[in-house]
Amino acid sequence: MDRTANQLRLTLDFVRGARFACPACGTEDCSVHDTESRRWRHLNFFQYACYIEARQPRVQCPNCGVKTVPVPWARPGSGFTLLFEAFTLTLMQDMPVRAVSDLVGEWDTRLWRVLDHYVTEARDQRSLDAVTAVGVDETAARRGHHYVTLFVDPAESAVMFATPGKDATTVTRFAEDFQAHHGDPATVTDVTMDMSPAFIKGVTAHFPKAAITFDKFHVMKLLGDAVDRVRREERKVRPELAGTRYLWLKNPQDLKGKAADRLADLRQAHLKTGRAYAIKETLQAFWDQPPEAAEAFLRHWYFWATHSRLEPIRQAAKTIKAHWAGVLQYTQSHRTNAVLEGINSLVQAAKARARGYRNVNHFITIIYLMAGKLSLPRLTLGSG
Ligand SMILES: [Zn+2]
Repeated sequence: MDRTANQLRLTLDFVRGARFACPACGTEDCSVHDTESRRWRHLNFFQYACYIEARQPRVQCPNCGVKTVPVPWARPGSGFTLLFEAFTLTLMQDMPVRAVSDLVGEWDTRLWRVLDHYVTEARDQRSLDAVTAVGVDETAARRGHHYVTLFVDPAESAVMFATPGKDATTVTRFAEDFQAHHGDPATVTDVTMDMSPAFIKGVTAHFPKAAITFDKFHVMKLLGDAVDRVRREERKVRPELAGTRYLWLKNPQDLKGKAADRLADLRQAHLKTGRAYAIKETLQAFWDQPPEAAEAFLRHWYFWATHSRLEPIRQAAKTIKAHWAGVLQYTQSHRTNAVLEGINSLVQAAKARARGYRNVNHFITIIYLMAGKLSLPRLTLGSG
C-alpha cells in the first residue's frame, strides 16, 4: 500500500514456465515469447485508488506468430478492470460523465471511451427484425442549427438510431443501420413524421412499403402558428389582443376561470383572430373522424380555410393540401409521434445537465444511453 499516493497496488503474476493457449486460433500450450508490464485501475479499496499490476504474456503461436494473451479481469486495450468499468458505467447511467470523472479521478475522455464501447456493443447485439413501424424526428444538438435525427421503434419506445443532421441522408444511414441489425425495410408498413420534405424523400426512397402518417401535433402546431400570426397583425388595431397569445394556443378545455371567460369574451368580439381560431378548432375535430368520413371533412375544412381571407390560415391550409394523403392516413393508422416527444424531452434534459456537448457523437451516445433501452452492465450491491 502506498499511503503517500493514496494507492493500493495488487501485483499478480503467472507461474514461471507457464504456457498459454493462443488467443487467436486456440492452439494450446504455446510458449511465452515475452511480457509487458501493465496496470489496470480497479474498484477503490476504501479511500485508496486500487490498481492491479501484472506482467501480461505474449505467446509464440506456430500458426499466428506473437499474440498478446488477454487477462480475465479486463477487456483487451482497456486500462480499467471489468469491475471498475461496470462501476463507472453504473454511475454514468445516472450522472453526467463529467461528474463521474470528478468522482473517480479519471479523465472524462477515458470514461467516454468506456461508455462508447458498451453502448456500441449493446447496440450490435440488438435485432430489429420485428420492427414494422418507425417514428422520425429531429432534436437540437446545440444552440443554433445543429441537429440529430432520431429513429424510434414506437412499439418499444426505444431509439433505434440517431445520426447527425436532418436531411434525407439521415434516412439513408438509418436504412443501412436497420439492415445491419436484421431489419427488413420491406416489412416497415408505417412511418410517422412531421412534414419535412427531407424525411418524406428519404422514407419514400428507402421504405417504399411504408405509409406515411404526418404527426397530428405537428399539423396542429402549423395551425396554432397561423392563428398567432393573424393575432399579431390584428393586435395593431385591436389592443385587447395584447398578451392573449396563450389563450388561443391552449386547448380550450385546459383553460379555467378568468382565462376561459376572457377567451369567451374575445370570441364574441368579431375578431379575425376569432375566425382563425374557429378554423383551427374545426381541424382539431378532424382527428376524431371515422376513416370513411375523413376525406369529405378535410375537403370542407380546406375550402373554408382557403376562402377565409386570412393569409396565414390560407398558407397553412395549402401546406396541408400538399401533404394530403399523409394527413388523412392518421384516420387509418391512429399513429402520432407522442413517444418521440417524450424521448425528446428526456434527451434535452440530459443535454442541459451536461451543459451541452461539444462533440455530437457524445450526444448520440447519451441518447442511446437514456432512450435506447439497451441492456448495459450495471453493478448492484451483492453482485459478485
Ligand atoms: Zn494461433
